[in-house]
Amino acid sequence: LLLAYEPAKRLARVNVGIAESMIAVRMLFGVLDTPPSVTEADDKPPLTLTRGRIDLTDVVFGYRKTEPVVNGVTLSVGHGQRLALVGPSGGGKSTLLALIQRFYDVDKGAISVDGQDIRSVAVASLRHHIAFVSQDVFLFAGTARDNIRIGRLGATDEEVEQAARDAFAHDFIMGLPNGYDSHVGENGVQLSGGQRQRMAIARAILKNAPILLLDEATSALDSESERMIQIALDKLVEGRTTIVIAHRLATILSADKIAVIEHGRVLESGTHAELVRRGGLYEKLYRYQFAEAEPLERASA
Ligand code: ADP
Ligand code: MG
Repeated sequence: LLLAYEPAKRLARVNVGIAESMIAVRMLFGVLDTPPSVTEADDKPPLTLTRGRIDLTDVVFGYRKTEPVVNGVTLSVGHGQRLALVGPSGGGKSTLLALIQRFYDVDKGAISVDGQDIRSVAVASLRHHIAFVSQDVFLFAGTARDNIRIGRLGATDEEVEQAARDAFAHDFIMGLPNGYDSHVGENGVQLSGGQRQRMAIARAILKNAPILLLDEATSALDSESERMIQIALDKLVEGRTTIVIAHRLATILSADKIAVIEHGRVLESGTHAELVRRGGLYEKLYRYQFAEAEPLERASA
């Protein structure tokens, strides 16, 4: 995923005007950060979103064709449901979220949204329906306002501000030297990890997409940020089809289904109660990690 964002970062380093950089950012989310396999002429029909159901069927994928990191994953998440992905670091969870956004194409198997193979629809229309909140938030060289507005380029200043309020970003933005006009990103004001995440959440709120992909932070946030981020995220997931790479017990417990991913495979899946009863890897992770209130991923590696 980091790799997928590299071209974007290079792009942002070119200090162009805001209008241009907004176009650049639009391109970045549409085409530029997409590897060659997915940069075909986008003359396909748009995705017809009906319910926001996602199906992965026997998905195999490797960054290098000889080394698959996703090894035959079959998973479904229904309309408005929450699927939590847990498991050891390097298991392939972030890769699955990248594949669903079609940053890469699967080598075998298929991913579909509302029954449409994502390779058969325009990439931009797929991503239009998906909001992605990740750990490494990309801020481009521009103002705080512009950095939120990329969630929905047509949004008014009022809508941007409301999204920022809902994401608990408004107060710290107002505390910046020039408020919403403050420059953030590479040559701008340095924001903390928690503040950057709240910027990403504000974008997602503004985007208001029916599908939400969420990579919860593993790195420690200050407790103030952590609490606000949690409140904002809880609200954001409501009514949306959500796949979350979960590191917090509360997130895992609130999921409709948990899938334990290890070595690119679904080792086991079910509800928390089912998985604890099963006594497999999940039960061990749960027992050893959360007994000590440790992030799920770390101690399992
Ligand atoms: P998780 O999110 O479960 O920690 P990832 O999907 O990030 O797992 O990684 C799965 C495997 O793919 C790991 O071995 C990781 O090193 C590798 N990987 C992840 N991203 C890339 C990339 N952009 N290029 C090459 N290998 C990658
Ligand atoms: Mg990951």
